[in-house]
Amino acid sequence: MHGCRNKCGGCYRQFNKKEHLVEHMRTSYHSVHEPTCGICNKHCRSFDSLREHLIGPLPKQECKNIFSICGCRFCLTILESPNARRIHQERCQFSNGLTARMAVLGLRDNPTIDYTSSRSPRVVALSCKMVGGGSDGSLDLCARVCITDESENVIFHTYVKPTLPITNYRYETTGIRPENIRDAMPLKQAQRKIKEFLCYGEPMWKIRPRSGKARILVGHGLDSHLDCLQLEYSSFMIRDTAEYPPLMKTSKLSNSLKYLTQAYLGYDIHVGMQDPYEDCVTTMRLYKRMRNQKHKTDAYPLASDTHNTNNYASWRQSELESMSEDELLNLSGSDYYCWCLDSVP
Ligand SMILES: [Zn+2]
Ligand SMILES: [Zn+2]
Ligand SMILES: [Zn+2]
Ligand SMILES: [Zn+2]
Repeated sequence: MHGCRNKCGGCYRQFNKKEHLVEHMRTSYHSVHEPTCGICNKHCRSFDSLREHLIGPLPKQECKNIFSICGCRFCLTILESPNARRIHQERCQFSNGLTARMAVLGLRDNPTIDYTSSRSPRVVALSCKMVGGGSDGSLDLCARVCITDESENVIFHTYVKPTLPITNYRYETTGIRPENIRDAMPLKQAQRKIKEFLCYGEPMWKIRPRSGKARILVGHGLDSHLDCLQLEYSSFMIRDTAEYPPLMKTSKLSNSLKYLTQAYLGYDIHVGMQDPYEDCVTTMRLYKRMRNQKHKTDAYPLASDTHNTNNYASWRQSELESMSEDELLNLSGSDYYCWCLDSVP
């Protein structure tokens, strides 16, 4: 009579008492947006924990067996046959191929943001490369910045002259030399151009999700990039691959961009000199992969704040305890904004 009683409909954890299940549901924020096993439908907090469930350590054996034949090792979906898997996986894996492009780009910086010529991008990626300032060279100063669009075109790519003296060029990883910086664009100027470009005529205080013209900004660890540009931007518009729960570690810490690129896109980055263009392209690819997920959206596809918070608060404990596992799961909502919602027109 015990067995499957009081089993969570999302993560399948079992509880001795219904009140413990209800307590779990209040804080688990299960939703259709969570990474889900294509075999047993178990909900996971992150793709890393789904990967553990499918591949290991400690996988669920039945799921592991099917995954090893029909599962894509990059996006973790299950295909119909080994052959379908092979075709899918070839498309799912990116090749780097950026080194050659970067060599050309390095010679041709693009210090003016010319976005009037083409269709104005709604989503852009930004990355900086930092050099060292301060007496021990540990202070991060922006010396190079890149912005790209969804199609991996460069919108803006320039060396930047920091306001403080550079004490360590970090040449081995940045490839930046004093002569690159001598006549570079002053930080204030770069900052103003980027801010104008991102807000696109909308005052910062007015920016709301889906409010209008301001652009969605993609990046990895954007806080530090925006800090070094001395720039603030609306959190509604930020899509950060270091802070996005499905892309974080089981321990809820951030993954490195290098790890995410290997695990989800199937290639290596940060080999030798680093160009911010590479980071822009890579974070944009990750963003698009997350945005392209087909989640069943419910009655509130616009992901207003109320939809994104768990609404157990409006029910009495006794009412909750009389609900079925499915009813409890239906009541549960995501505590983060799923990027698939960006694809809802
Ligand atoms: Zn659960
Ligand atoms: Zn979603
Ligand atoms: Zn499973
Ligand atoms: Zn895939």
